[in-house]
Amino acid sequence: MADIDGIRKDIFGRAVIVSTGRSKRPGAFIDKKHREKACPFCPGNESKTEKTVLAIPNERNWRVRVFKNKFPVLHARNFKQVADSFFEKYTPSGVHEVLVETRKHDMDYSNMHEDDIKLVIDALKQRYSELMKIEDVNYVTIFKNKGKRAGASIAHPHLQIIAAPLFPDVISVEMEQSESYFKKEKKCGDCDMIREESHAKTRVVTHNRDWIVICPYVSTWPYQTTILPRRHFSEITDMTDEEALNLAKIIKKLFHGYTKIFDDPPYNIMYHNFPSSDFWHFHIHIYPRIVTHAGFEFFGLNVNITTPEDAAKMLKNVLR
Ligand SMILES: [Zn+2]
Ligand SMILES: [Zn+2]
Repeated sequence: MADIDGIRKDIFGRAVIVSTGRSKRPGAFIDKKHREKACPFCPGNESKTEKTVLAIPNERNWRVRVFKNKFPVLHARNFKQVADSFFEKYTPSGVHEVLVETRKHDMDYSNMHEDDIKLVIDALKQRYSELMKIEDVNYVTIFKNKGKRAGASIAHPHLQIIAAPLFPDVISVEMEQSESYFKKEKKCGDCDMIREESHAKTRVVTHNRDWIVICPYVSTWPYQTTILPRRHFSEITDMTDEEALNLAKIIKKLFHGYTKIFDDPPYNIMYHNFPSSDFWHFHIHIYPRIVTHAGFEFFGLNVNITTPEDAAKMLKNVLR
């Protein structure tokens, strides 16, 4: 895997992982006729992937299966500096895993059973906790790309887990913002926001005992949603078993809504964890990829063609 160049950093603190091996990934949007034979994530094709890291309930009859990514963005053991000039370069240390969410090639959260979605969450909790124990791992990223437009190279439902030595920029920025709110107000900003949104109701899509789904006030993408726990906790591993089941239920419901409006849309999901703290409130971002962003958005100032209030109303209506 010498195809991984490393983690590069410049004098402004910007970082990038350079990994050319990933361009050799199969362009595996396989047509329907050939998928069960060709899809490396379908049951029976386990030998086409790296060996199993976790299988629930067991390797033979797995319902959720985790293994190392064949084309990892990070893979090395130790995090150390390999170049120190005007620029810095580090070893690509970390772990990149794939979590196959179901045996069935064609499923999505909207038609998966909530108990099966719960198994996915259980598996994520286990892998997150294991990977966080590794020396040199400081952050575990969990995300999902569904559909070509969202960057998925294989259609079979799967999540990706990347354990890295550094915090992704988005997390560092969110951390600074929520920490500064906490210092000023002496309370968690998301706890305050949940109170505010529950009262206003206009951006609330749905809720249950443990979770709330909102279209954020500053939505940068149309129909973007955030799922937040009502109880304050920071990491997926802090979640109780009951909260995990209720999360599975609300995920199923939300994606039922998306499917009804957009008929199986591509999307990205990002789990925002942070080591337990008073200022960080665990949450999940969902970005349906129904529009393409253009040049202006590279400045970080997005133009959204749908108000979050209209998006919430539309989702709420189809979920009735
Ligand atoms: Zn498959
Ligand atoms: Zn909170």
